[in-house]
Amino acid sequence: MGKYVIAGNWKMNKTPAEATELIEAIKPLVADAACDVVVGVPFVDIPAALEAVKGSKIGVAAQNCHWEKSGAYTGEISAEMLKAMGVGYVILGHSERRQYFGETDVTVQKRVRAALDAGLTVILCVGEYLEQREQGVTGEVVAMQTKIALGGVSEEELGRIIIAYEPVWAIGTGRTATAEQANEVCALIRGVAKDLYSEAAAAALTIQYGGSMNAGNAAELLAKPDVDGGLIGGASLKPADFATIVAAAK
Ligand code: PEP
Repeated sequence: MGKYVIAGNWKMNKTPAEATELIEAIKPLVADAACDVVVGVPFVDIPAALEAVKGSKIGVAAQNCHWEKSGAYTGEISAEMLKAMGVGYVILGHSERRQYFGETDVTVQKRVRAALDAGLTVILCVGEYLEQREQGVTGEVVAMQTKIALGGVSEEELGRIIIAYEPVWAIGTGRTATAEQANEVCALIRGVAKDLYSEAAAAALTIQYGGSMNAGNAAELLAKPDVDGGLIGGASLKPADFATIVAAAK
């Protein structure tokens, strides 16, 4: 439905020198990609990553940003700073941020606003915990996360939002959602976008699946009509595996 985007989330891995090495390895393997390719790198790797992606179609994402432009927020990085460096994307609301660093739907909304105002494209992560899936409230949880994060986002701005459906129980666990489960929730998110905006805006929205997507299961997941790409953790650190996933996105 939306444009295919495969994004790597490197999490807290790789020094700047290692980032250069990894991107140099990925670059030739994704040169003919039919989809957009993004690498989400640690803040300190951004200069090295921006240099390394030159001459390729690979975009660079940060893994978070603060909602204020500047100020007394020790340890934080603003969306303006990222934009000034030449970063194109920012991952927001990742479940690891929500789980370990106290991110809430409200702070995610504020970060989305700041990122859009700065001119960045947002990869917005939503997804349920295992207990929520078992209680049958996945739809409600994901719809609520999506609606709150998109609060105040215009239909035009939605063009700079990618939503990543990432069931928390599938992240880093090797336990992938089935293609049917992934498609069902991605379709639900598209339905939320349709209710909030329009049929056209919902159809154009890129909705990724994330959660132990790998070289072996990517093709089946990406073949589903409402799955427009992937947010890839572990497998994005392995050039050949990442390239196989990229090749499956067409
Ligand atoms: C992620 O970090 O967004 C992710 C999906 O990780 P993994 O692919 O390792 O499950």
